[in-house]
Amino acid sequence: MEANIDRAATLILTSKYVVGLTGAGISVESGIRPFRGPGGLWTEYGEPPMDGYQRFLADPKEHWEQISRRDGYLGELYKALEKAEPHAAHYALAELEELGVLKYLITQNVDNLHRAVGNKKVAEIHGNFRKMRCIRCGSRYEQGEVSLETLPLLCPGCGGIVKTDGVMFGEPIPMDVLEICQRETSNADCMLSVGTSAFIYPAAGFSQQVKRKGGVLVEVDLYETELTPLCDISLRGKAGEVLPLLVDSIKHKLETG
Ligand SMILES: [Zn+2]
Repeated sequence: MEANIDRAATLILTSKYVVGLTGAGISVESGIRPFRGPGGLWTEYGEPPMDGYQRFLADPKEHWEQISRRDGYLGELYKALEKAEPHAAHYALAELEELGVLKYLITQNVDNLHRAVGNKKVAEIHGNFRKMRCIRCGSRYEQGEVSLETLPLLCPGCGGIVKTDGVMFGEPIPMDVLEICQRETSNADCMLSVGTSAFIYPAAGFSQQVKRKGGVLVEVDLYETELTPLCDISLRGKAGEVLPLLVDSIKHKLETG
């Protein structure tokens, strides 16, 4: 493991543009249950309907009421998100951005934990549970910025319908976020993939794209993933244990030249 961490640190430092990609694996270590697999929210509650966005459009008020009732899997998810705390892997990624090594972070997680510890260059493909978004003009609002007194919520800017920022089934990924992801992926010559099984598109395509044009892939995951065969280095273990070691190795190399 130590030798692999050393090699990964060298690969990262010899790359010009490192982009991170994080998924559910990193959130699980903050106590947020995954959707699928053993202990998954959908394993317990059943898969939500695949047309969640269409249902929202048909009855946005019901969606907001469901969230405020905190029932079903969505209620469980919100309760877990609200009490989730960042862990060592989140801090390690924030430090990498601070060091100028990590240029951007693409995350599939909606838990806001990367921003909470100081990452500023973050693209949240599936949105951020602490935000709300107008489906007409795309403006994002923080909790408390829009009155919850009259449902459904309406955009103070354009009067459009406001939903939670989290991307629903059947809902397109917001164009502005997708454009950032595409720009950063095409800039990247190294992708550091953490806790993502990499089979959910579009995220799955980003690592493959970096690899196709000759870039480097470093993976941190407890298990082998579908990305593993493409990776230059796969570091097996908990993100909260592996990433701090990786960042220490990078810092040591930076200090000793
Ligand atoms: Zn609007």
